[in-house]
Amino acid sequence: FAKKHGNNSYHFYTADLNGKSRENLELEMDLYKAIENDELILHYQPQFHLSTGEYIGNEALIRWNHPKRGMVSPFHFIPIAEETGLIIPIGEWVLKTACAQNKAWQQAGLPPIVVSVNLSSRQFSQSNLVGVVERVLAETKLEAKYLDLEITESMTVDVKQTINTLQALKKLGVKISIDDFGTGYSSLSYLKEFPIDCLKIDQSFIRDCHEDQSNATIVKTIISMAHHLNIQVIAEGVETKEHLDFLQQNLCDAVQGYLLSKPIPAENIEEQFPDFQKIIRRYGLTSEISH
Ligand code: C2E
Ligand code: MG
Ligand code: MG
Ligand code: MG
Repeated sequence: FAKKHGNNSYHFYTADLNGKSRENLELEMDLYKAIENDELILHYQPQFHLSTGEYIGNEALIRWNHPKRGMVSPFHFIPIAEETGLIIPIGEWVLKTACAQNKAWQQAGLPPIVVSVNLSSRQFSQSNLVGVVERVLAETKLEAKYLDLEITESMTVDVKQTINTLQALKKLGVKISIDDFGTGYSSLSYLKEFPIDCLKIDQSFIRDCHEDQSNATIVKTIISMAHHLNIQVIAEGVETKEHLDFLQQNLCDAVQGYLLSKPIPAENIEEQFPDFQKIIRRYGLTSEISH
């Protein structure tokens, strides 16, 4: 924090310390030990195909079981992990754990589904990302087509770099999704340049999509645009039957949200697997359109 001034005087900048809350500093220290202390865990949130009702995948969502604070939200510690660079080892742990778990479900005889892993921006721009993904797939023996990597629009600012990285990832055979779609500021032109499999419509548009005319229009437009570009669409934050009906009427491909299941521990996924395969049918959706 010391900076040299003209005549050999030092000025100590304490702005950083004041700006950061004491709480964040404590969390930062604790986060260094979180991996080795086994305090990080993944929960999984199921995703369903809307027209077939099929259980198609899970999004892996990190949780920090802090010894004193209990469960800390990723909204709270992912930014700290980004800032400190800890996101690199944490991100690799997430990738490895999610792939190993997905493979374990397959080996237990469950129908193969995709696991979606959130990448942070620092992870996405790390030079050896493709190597890390390749190594994790080899180590866990998960077929690449069962891994989906979620990036956000904000990570795609450097278009050339993004195209290179995404093309190398696609070569491995993994899927690529754009998370929180519609909340970034990036140009839409990238949608035709990047090899993207799926757009995840941000939950802020899904909320009230059945009654708020603007949100309804945005959701319909995203779905139609994506389909014209041969990109699939999944809606996140589906909380009500009204959301589900609206999304089905407007031909959204897949859904994820509290209505169907909250993110849950891996053991519960395994237990509930048979129920999940029938869950969309329970809402009476697939029967009307099955042939
Ligand atoms: P996200 O990737 O957009 O994940 C969706 C978030 O919405 C999750 O919050 C999920 O629990 C929540 N959610 C799911 N369905 C519903 C719903 O119906 N209603 C509402 N209100 N919320 C719903 P969560 O688990 O707290 O994660 C927050 C964010 O933290 C994630 O947003 C993602 O950006 C980040 N994150 C989580 N896990 C990881 C990770 O392993 N690595 C990285 N880099 N980021 C992660
Ligand atoms: Mg996500
Ligand atoms: Mg999201
Ligand atoms: Mg996100």
